[in-house]
Amino acid sequence: MDFFIEPIARLINELSRLPGVGGKTAQRLAFHILDMPKEGAQRLTKAILDAKEGIRHCSVCCNLTDADPCRICSSPKRDGSVICVVKDPRDVVAMERTRDYRGLYHVLHGTISPMEGVGPDDIRIKELLHRVQNDGVKEVVMATNPDVEGEATAMYVSRLLKPLGIKVTRIAHGIPVGGDLEYADEVTLSKAFEGRREM
Ligand SMILES: [Zn+2]
Repeated sequence: MDFFIEPIARLINELSRLPGVGGKTAQRLAFHILDMPKEGAQRLTKAILDAKEGIRHCSVCCNLTDADPCRICSSPKRDGSVICVVKDPRDVVAMERTRDYRGLYHVLHGTISPMEGVGPDDIRIKELLHRVQNDGVKEVVMATNPDVEGEATAMYVSRLLKPLGIKVTRIAHGIPVGGDLEYADEVTLSKAFEGRREM
């Protein structure tokens, strides 16, 4: 980084922290930003800050939202008796793209991973338990990724909810094992959902 004068080095350093951005790409982006008209750079920084400041977690489903409760939780068209549990907000977008699902969501913001020191208390399981006990929920669909952490989390939640008389189902593995919900096409995800089974 010694080749670059300080402000450029700092910009490259910040950009290289983004996922999927290596050192080379960070340099290319930094020089692109420097070439931008000032208004363009201002629009970019404003968009980042607006998104950071205007977006929070829905107090019901923990999804990202600009209104609380979020649009899905407050929609009268959604079926409040079913909750689909996902790992992160991108999975809600993926599920919504299928257009088949009319229930509500719960975003855990992670999955249980002893290897990475993530326990049940580090993700939004307490909030889910609270919802299930109070809101007339009949079925919880575990739609965490079909990888080790996703399966462990689904099992854990299932064991917590079943004694409460809640039907807990797991989406079928039309999704490749080790795959990511976010990257599944609509048909695969839709089929996986249809083939969910009781846990
Ligand atoms: Zn919500």
